[in-house]
Amino acid sequence: METLEFYRNLPKKVCVECGQEIEEQHESYLYECERCIGHGND
Ligand SMILES: [Zn+2]
Repeated sequence: METLEFYRNLPKKVCVECGQEIEEQHESYLYECERCIGHGND
């Protein structure tokens, strides 16, 4: 298997709150989109 194929098969991360796709960032531990994270405990 080629490395490129491996990355192409990676599932896209989606926000656990709204289901919106999360763009790959260096903070790989994030499970919510910036918008939902920004909501806080409002
Ligand atoms: Zn969200």
